[in-house]
Amino acid sequence: MTREFQVQGVRVSELARRYGTPLFVYDGTVLRDRFHGLRDRLHPAMEIFYSLKANPNISICALLHSFGARAEVSSLVELTTALRAGVPPQQVIFLGPGKSRQELAACLDTGIYAVVCESIPEVALVDELARERGVKAPVALRVNPRFAVKRSGLAMGGRPRQFGIDEEELFGQTDLVKRFPDVDLMGVQVYMGTRILHETVIVENTTRILDLAERLSDALSIELRMVDVGGGLGVSYFDGESDLDAQVLTDGLNPVIEDFTARHPGTRMIMELGRYLTAEAGTYVMGVRYTKTSMGERFAVADGGTHHHMAAVGIGSFVKRNFPMAVLNRLDEPATEEWNVTGPLCTPGDTIGKKVPLPPVRPGDLIGVHRSGAYGPTASPGLFLGHGYPAEVLVHEGRCHLVRERDRPDDLLQRQRLYDPTAHDAADVPH
Ligand SMILES: *Cc1c(COP(=O)(O)O)cnc(C)c1O
Repeated sequence: MTREFQVQGVRVSELARRYGTPLFVYDGTVLRDRFHGLRDRLHPAMEIFYSLKANPNISICALLHSFGARAEVSSLVELTTALRAGVPPQQVIFLGPGKSRQELAACLDTGIYAVVCESIPEVALVDELARERGVKAPVALRVNPRFAVKRSGLAMGGRPRQFGIDEEELFGQTDLVKRFPDVDLMGVQVYMGTRILHETVIVENTTRILDLAERLSDALSIELRMVDVGGGLGVSYFDGESDLDAQVLTDGLNPVIEDFTARHPGTRMIMELGRYLTAEAGTYVMGVRYTKTSMGERFAVADGGTHHHMAAVGIGSFVKRNFPMAVLNRLDEPATEEWNVTGPLCTPGDTIGKKVPLPPVRPGDLIGVHRSGAYGPTASPGLFLGHGYPAEVLVHEGRCHLVRERDRPDDLLQRQRLYDPTAHDAADVPH
């Protein structure tokens, strides 16, 4: 018997048979362990908000919410997803540098906890929308701090960015409360960057953000009812990286949180986590269609590719580094060969893994990319070559749940309109 990858006792070959490939499979137990691994150690004053950006599937959101996560959203669809998943409005915050009037209106109409504004003109627009509605809009200010994060995968603050309002500028805006009477300025948010894998960096960031929030609320004379310290907690993907240790992290963070909450007992403290909660729970499963060699290198051409998993091409790196991968239906066979794992797209860029150590690969094998529960389909060009998005399955408590259907050709085509070059009844002439 060859050993097969299983999710809660469900064999991967069974999943492939039932749902087809390519396929994303999520393990609900891993999701729960990720959440509780941190939640149970983290100071209770710090609330965990799930960043839907990492994986916007409504069932993933609902499951994380059932464990205790709140929601951080950045689009109308994400807001709708969180609310439909059952997250109460007072556990939702909305963030993003380019919110539309419609999105801001939805924030006010649904009564979410806070709109995190990223520019002064945005605060002015929220003020106007609140006045129209006769409400006071709860607003937190996203600050682009003077300090930058060291050793993150991608820095979002501390340099010229479209995100947030520069710290220097904000300290000069002491009349904000007066200028925007229909806005309830109640909080501060800072998000420094993503993919941080050093506990000390997160502790240091948090310390500086809390200090900045205190100074800012003094300078602007606002009551600090909320402070959001961002997050950016990473997971390891590549050789040489190692995962954060939740115990070490919280041993460092909890005294900082305790200190702050002792001085500001009424202030809601928020941490936003995407990747950290979902990455490990997901596996991208591809079926091998053909194998071949080209100029001495082996290729496994699979039915899945970078149109579902752009992140696997490499994150912020010019050198291709591989995600953890395996032949899932023959886990016990030693990796004696090197394989390029490619997909169906007509571009050399459609390379999921380069020279991956694998056992001899055969057509019909199932190749899995582990740690793929974050920034998969949502961050990939699923429409490229008309392949569409794959099915997604959540396995929880030993049962399989199809949480997203695979795109069919009609799903992709029905939003296009056929222009008939022979018809002359020009329908859309501008007047
Ligand atoms: C992307 C993003 C997150 C989530 O980032 P992860 O690295 O997936 O945890 C949280 N907050 C903001 C503002 C973001 O832009």
